Amino acid sequence: MRPPLLDPLFAAATDLPGIGPKVEKLLRGLLGVSERDTRIGDLLFHLPHSVIDRRRQPGIAHSPEGAIVTLKVRIDRHQAAPAASRAPYKVFAHDETGEIQLVFFHARRDWLEKTLPEGETRYVSGKVEWFNGRPQMVHPDHMVDETSFAEMPLIEPVYPMTAGLSPKTLQKAITAALDLLPPMPEWLDEAHLARDHWPDFNTALETVHRPEDPADIDPKSPAVMRLAYDEYLASQLALAMVRSHMRKTAGVGRTSAGLLKEKILAALPFHLTPGQAQAISEIEGDLAASTRMLRLVQGDVGAGKTVVALIAMADVVEAGGQAAMMAPTELLAHQHLRAIGPLCEAAGIKAALLTGKAKPAERRAILAGLESGEIDILVGTHALFQATIAFKDLGLAVVDEQHRFGVHQRLALQGKGRGVDVLVMTATPIPRTLVLTYFGDMEVSQLPDKPAGRKPIETRSVSLDRLFDVVDGLKRALADGQKVYWVCPLVEESEVLDVTAAEERYGTLQQVFGDQVSLVHGRMSAAEKDAAMQDFKDGRTRILVATTVIEVGVDVSDATIIVIEHAERFGLAQLHQLRGRVGRGDKQSTCLLLYKGPLGETAKARLAIMRETNDGFVIAEEDLRLRGEGEILGTRQSGMPGFRIAQIETHGELMETARADARLILANDPDLEGPRGQALRLLLYIFGRDEAIRLLRAG
Ligand code: ADP
Ligand code: MG
Repeated sequence: MRPPLLDPLFAAATDLPGIGPKVEKLLRGLLGVSERDTRIGDLLFHLPHSVIDRRRQPGIAHSPEGAIVTLKVRIDRHQAAPAASRAPYKVFAHDETGEIQLVFFHARRDWLEKTLPEGETRYVSGKVEWFNGRPQMVHPDHMVDETSFAEMPLIEPVYPMTAGLSPKTLQKAITAALDLLPPMPEWLDEAHLARDHWPDFNTALETVHRPEDPADIDPKSPAVMRLAYDEYLASQLALAMVRSHMRKTAGVGRTSAGLLKEKILAALPFHLTPGQAQAISEIEGDLAASTRMLRLVQGDVGAGKTVVALIAMADVVEAGGQAAMMAPTELLAHQHLRAIGPLCEAAGIKAALLTGKAKPAERRAILAGLESGEIDILVGTHALFQATIAFKDLGLAVVDEQHRFGVHQRLALQGKGRGVDVLVMTATPIPRTLVLTYFGDMEVSQLPDKPAGRKPIETRSVSLDRLFDVVDGLKRALADGQKVYWVCPLVEESEVLDVTAAEERYGTLQQVFGDQVSLVHGRMSAAEKDAAMQDFKDGRTRILVATTVIEVGVDVSDATIIVIEHAERFGLAQLHQLRGRVGRGDKQSTCLLLYKGPLGETAKARLAIMRETNDGFVIAEEDLRLRGEGEILGTRQSGMPGFRIAQIETHGELMETARADARLILANDPDLEGPRGQALRLLLYIFGRDEAIRLLRAG
């Protein structure tokens, strides 16, 4: 239950003055709340990006051209433009230094006469422009009398805006929201606050929304740092709560003699890399321990994560348990089964595939096999875990390629077995700060090395105008026995159009290459996709035209060329993922980035980075720089709450402290029951991380 203290923050934004249903719609877009009504609290986290400084009061004659100034003037006379003239309405005023014209277009005379009465003193603030040696101010931002001036902020916050919303409306609503902010108990450590000279939460919000100095809204200012830290702490605390909850539900120590592992290793056509061996031994340590495993295996595309997962699963099977492996798409689930199937067979492990497309009888048979324990390893999509599937003894869940695997998915694993160990594998080389953000509750194993013999992929960008040359080059490559991926891009985020683009390209390539071309896209049935992939894998076709369904994980180790059409439309991480489809064997591979010019700055930078490096971590850092974290992890789409205040580029270094802080907090007060614990619960609600509160004993 949410503490009633927070009710004002959770009340509808439409309760605020000036916010009707129409404005509320606009606010949703602006504040990034799409699936619910805008709340008063949402406005408070919309921080100004700059300020207008109105403190300068130099007097009329000393006002520099183009400067924002505030002037105390006496109103002399109004001069309306003659009817039918397009000249502006003018108001003449003066101070002891000189005279100024206040200029208005499309003026409402009666209103101006009321606002600027002749013979009275008024404060006007705005930009001064010198015109033929005379100063003027066109449409002053503020025109107030002495009393109102006393209340006018001289440092005016400027907020990110959206079309259709007026700055004054937004400003008023935020000010009103501030006034509703209840007094909040302190949830941060007092010593920490003192050390960093951070204000309390309410003061911090006051400071950024009612700045008294331009420095107050600087992202590195104590007020903003404090709020960013609060936000990180909330997310780290939620992750730590999930972690400690999972660990509390006693895990099952599973040890094996490694017999099945031996069989798999013997059946592999290669030796493990040192990184793979190291990751496996870390995993085996976790499996044997009686606490639950929560481990992330991080390795660039092609690093060989699948084998690591397979051996972990084999260990669990040998210890008498079952394992499940979940992929983000059916295509990948199929491919996983194909990759591990022969190895499982060699080791005498029974593996099965379950997808949404399974026929009822087939599905029943698999479910029965899982319940009886006859099936050792189940491969499927993430949807597996939403379904009602009962295992005899699920010991390990492997989640592949997932940043979309958020806290609630992790929680959903809970019900599926006694202390299920969890292994998450990700191919996106995520910068350290982001690992902490999204996987702060996990231990991390890295696969730093690629299997021996891999050559860096040669990457070139080519204008689409030279399509003809590219096709010509492919003719030679095919004659040479090579295999080619041809990736068609997202068109306007519409799958239908996507498919059309891919189908068209398929058509034109078919005219040249005949039945050596196959096509795979998201609207084909799993069986069709499978058949197309299998044809390509077995070499019956040599060019695979695909939409981005091949983005993650697809493995055809003898493909050596990838053409990415409209490469300028892809993000860096995606380009890197796609490129990783080739360069998996010992042959030289090539990636052609086909672009349609003219290129924007960011697109240019992206393509240059792709040409320059094959290092996924370098690319991830660059991507972070170019785009910000939300997009890298696809969190915007997945609904995983992003950060509203904290910016990883600026505040990233706070994350480590927040993580340590969160763990310490839970070590001292696991159920957040003490006074600080109660305050921290408020923090979780405020930043929308309250999901984890249900895990507390006294939740
Ligand atoms: P990813 O980490 O992208 O999931 P995969 O597990 O699909 O990578 O492995 C990519 C390819 O590398 C596969 O064809 C796999 O069989 C092969 N591979 C994995 N480990 C090694 C190794 N140690 N030596 C050589 N090839 C390997
Ligand atoms: Mg993989």
